[in-house]
Amino acid sequence: TKLLEIENLHARIGDNEILKGLDLSVGAGEIHAIMGPNGAGKSTLSKVLAGAEDYVVTSGTIRYQGQDIAEQSAEQRAAHGIFMGFQYPVEIPGVSNMMFLKAAVNAQRKERGEPEMAANDFLAWVRHRVKQMKMDPAMLSRGVNQGFSGGEKKRNEILQMLVLEPKLMVLDETDSGLDIDALKIVSDGINAMRSPERATILVTHYQRLLDYVQPDFVHVLAAGRIVKSGGPELARELEEKGYGWLQAA
Ligand code: ADP
Ligand code: MG
Ligand code: MG
Repeated sequence: TKLLEIENLHARIGDNEILKGLDLSVGAGEIHAIMGPNGAGKSTLSKVLAGAEDYVVTSGTIRYQGQDIAEQSAEQRAAHGIFMGFQYPVEIPGVSNMMFLKAAVNAQRKERGEPEMAANDFLAWVRHRVKQMKMDPAMLSRGVNQGFSGGEKKRNEILQMLVLEPKLMVLDETDSGLDIDALKIVSDGINAMRSPERATILVTHYQRLLDYVQPDFVHVLAAGRIVKSGGPELARELEEKGYGWLQAA
């Protein structure tokens, strides 16, 4: 079975139907890039996968690891390995990065019925990941994303991902606003998570990210559906021609 199988997905926010019969199949070990015009429903798809409230699935199915996850809360999905990176990471003043990471790891373990991680093991694990992300360990005692630059927030988001070790990573425009150095570090983090058991869905507008993170498949999402799929060459074609030619096809 596929890690993720989405069939004929329809979803709305309020009275507004955004996803209109979306199909997407993601196998373990694969990286899928999703591109498409503004307002197409890319962020909506990401949020529906993560189980965000306010988004109502009206028909179709989302199977993750062979199970229909329609009834699962965002917390349950996260505990079973679905990680969502936000387009606009939130700031949580007063909660240190370290406290946040510990709470997140232990909440997921609890949800899975596992005991908390021993404090020393946790510390060693987080430090290893901080080093891998070339971050200053001092940021662990700062408030979550508090006063962080755009690039630092993204880097912090990838750190959260490395610490949590999800199976399905959904990254919504994680490359937006990054300078080349930050882009490289974020890409290294995504590549470090690449494994035969895991998969990544990368929402992006730019070929630039895909030069560092090689996708296996590229899809175009337009008006709530996947309208075209291909390999890495499709992203280069889109960069060259835009999206207009697809509507005509
Ligand atoms: P994309 O990420 O592809 O740019 P989005 O998923 O953010 O697209 O948005 C798809 C459509 O849903 C847009 O027309 C947007 O205006 C609409 N939309 C997004 N959020 C809401 C909301 N909270 N309420 C109503 N409409 C929304
Ligand atoms: Mg948008
Ligand atoms: Mg978006």
